[in-house]
Amino acid sequence: MSKLQDQMFLEIRNKRPFELAQQYAFDYLEHIFDRNVYPTDEALNKLSIFDEELPVASANAKDVIEQLHTYGSQATTATLGGRYFGFVTGSALPIGIAAKNLATYWDQAPAMHVLSPIGSKLEAVVEKWLIDLFGLPENTAAGFVSGTSAANLCGLAAARYRILKRNDWDVNEKGLRNAPEIRIVTGKQAHSTVIKAVGILGLGKEDIEWAAVDDQGRIVAESIPELDENTILILQAGNVNSGAFDNFEVICEKAQKANAWIHIDGAFGLWAKAVSELNYLPKGMEKASSWAVDGHKTLNTPYDCGIVMCSDPEAMTAALHMSGSYIVESPERDGMFYTPEMSRRARVMELWAIMKYLGKNGIDEMILNMHHRAKQFAKEIGALKGFHVENDIVFNQVLVRCDSDALTQQVLHNIQKLRTCWLGGSVWFGKKVMRVSICSWATTESDITISIESFKKAMEIALADTTKISK
Ligand SMILES: *Cc1c(COP(=O)(O)O)cnc(C)c1O
Repeated sequence: MSKLQDQMFLEIRNKRPFELAQQYAFDYLEHIFDRNVYPTDEALNKLSIFDEELPVASANAKDVIEQLHTYGSQATTATLGGRYFGFVTGSALPIGIAAKNLATYWDQAPAMHVLSPIGSKLEAVVEKWLIDLFGLPENTAAGFVSGTSAANLCGLAAARYRILKRNDWDVNEKGLRNAPEIRIVTGKQAHSTVIKAVGILGLGKEDIEWAAVDDQGRIVAESIPELDENTILILQAGNVNSGAFDNFEVICEKAQKANAWIHIDGAFGLWAKAVSELNYLPKGMEKASSWAVDGHKTLNTPYDCGIVMCSDPEAMTAALHMSGSYIVESPERDGMFYTPEMSRRARVMELWAIMKYLGKNGIDEMILNMHHRAKQFAKEIGALKGFHVENDIVFNQVLVRCDSDALTQQVLHNIQKLRTCWLGGSVWFGKKVMRVSICSWATTESDITISIESFKKAMEIALADTTKISK
């Protein structure tokens, strides 16, 4: 046995690196709800400690963990807390972190049943739960991928496979050269990852047929061109700025009649279906053929958790299929047929734990709270002089602007500097806006009130020093 091997066996036996990491993790959790939401300049500067050449000699585990804790934990954004409103992120539920932590020690790859019977079992169970929760066709298959970017790619790959197959063209064998034409129709506010997927799949961004959208970013049904069976229609549950939903009831019916493939990007919005007060928003979504959704946004699983669902499992597995002489197929679920990867993390562990822990009622309650906090935010900020709410608060997104683009930008900059809460900017129909996304289980009424105070203060600072308001 080498010295290094010896050292590593010792680490398993005496558990020190694990205990140390655990203790630091608990320290981190203790302050997560009242710390600065964005790292301080000092913490950011200290990140330069990591700028070193790859060491020649091996280190001891304690030093490695300590460096990570000392310099790493200070340079995190507090997405786990209740006042991180940036992008559309989501927090992580305690049960999810705990289950992930446990499963980390198992180090499972659910590519094949024989590689991880527990991973395979839970993927099969969660697939059923998702079909039930979202009201999808019984034969729907789910693939557990890294996020909605990957899920959009997989859903559209299935669509590409099916449409070409209907034209007697096996895209896996023949590729796209001389292939029958596939039309892509989507709204002008489709998410960038949808457009990226169209590009990766060789379907040609230039040829996308764009449907008009209304003032909330929803597709105007009448502006959708005539559809046919060679068309992929890409819809949206939850506009990344406004949170708005396309009218699936009307649009899907039309698309279904034309036998078009409907894909829904529902990264964070699809979960509205699980909320009794909000399930009118994605009404009609079950008529689609493929859906992409994140666990790590609205459901608050830890990061790296997306799901692609497809009511045409044959198209999905054909699009993602792989084979090899050493592959052991089993009558049980082999996860790799539903994802582009072969080996991957068993992210289903925490997804299962969260769904089991919350149950339908808990999911409903948690997501409804996000909606209520967004409503509260809009109401309180709307009552302040100089702030304007730009969207209808249908779900969890609030778009706020000030009297001019320059002022909006300066106020946003000041809010970010204050670090009481964090959010980013966006552009909404030509105007600069501050985008507030309420996506955490942890956000309370007082988090909103404290954040509103920060907006107020940021405005005062901006108005006190108008020289800083650049054009
Ligand atoms: C976040 C988001 C995506 C991308 O999802 P990732 O999990 O970040 O890959 C796609 N579409 C919409 C509408 C989103 O909000």
